[in-house]
Amino acid sequence: MKVKRAEKYGFCSGVRIADLKVKRFAAGGGRGAILGQVVHNERVVEDMERLGVRTVEEIAAVAEPTIVFSAHGVPPSFHERAKSVGLKVLDTTCKFVYDIHRESKEALAAGYHLVFIGDPKHREVIGYTNDLDPSTYHIVSTIEGASGVDWSMYPKLKIFYQTTLNAEEFEDVVRAIEKRSASIERADTICYATKENQDAARVLALDPEIDVIIIIGGKKSANTKHLWEICRERKRSYLVQGADDLDPGWFEGAEVVGVTAGSSTPDYVIDEVEQRIATF
Ligand code: SF4
Repeated sequence: MKVKRAEKYGFCSGVRIADLKVKRFAAGGGRGAILGQVVHNERVVEDMERLGVRTVEEIAAVAEPTIVFSAHGVPPSFHERAKSVGLKVLDTTCKFVYDIHRESKEALAAGYHLVFIGDPKHREVIGYTNDLDPSTYHIVSTIEGASGVDWSMYPKLKIFYQTTLNAEEFEDVVRAIEKRSASIERADTICYATKENQDAARVLALDPEIDVIIIIGGKKSANTKHLWEICRERKRSYLVQGADDLDPGWFEGAEVVGVTAGSSTPDYVIDEVEQRIATF
């Protein structure tokens, strides 16, 4: 069986930098705990734990001297809270996420009502909204949600997308808001890394040579799930976390296997999957 990797796949620059920062910190003898997964990948989390940097779910659970904030970012108040309990902060927030923090703050000061298109439970979105007065913003992810709000009561609206969304899929949601609003602006906040991985997955799905596609990524990774959704529209596609999840039965009769991976999947996990496929 031949394996064809997508043109773009795997770690984005933000995750690569976050991973590197934590590894350097641990290699230098640093003792810390990461608030939430440093990236949405269980293998990366296990690696960090082996290096002595465990994952915790709340600031109060940190017993180490340093708290690590992940690439997804945190509400600004978390920095103050961490410092108030004597913790040092290792901040690995992606610069594109910080761009949205800055731009949404400026929009708020300029009198805009903020609209975040995304998942209200996603840590990135919580980071943007947690500290805000609830009357200053909405989080919308469905047409029903967009249609249920009287947008005409806000003189100016500014739309921000969660970085890892597929903007095309949410075009109808944004149009539903635009129809009911007098003045609306969109901030260009979709991360190019995610888009590039998605475009490359589309090319893989359209490749007539490919029989089956394997998408590699963490269970909680939204962008990995998007890649799977793109691929499965045209090809038999399976989402795995690593080589152990592969089922030899998926490859019966297949000659060419496409491989792609979410932006939180480390290179060595992709190599392991490819090596395992070669043994079938
Ligand atoms: S997907 Fe984009 S926004 Fe998210 S961490 Fe990676 S580079 Fe940053």
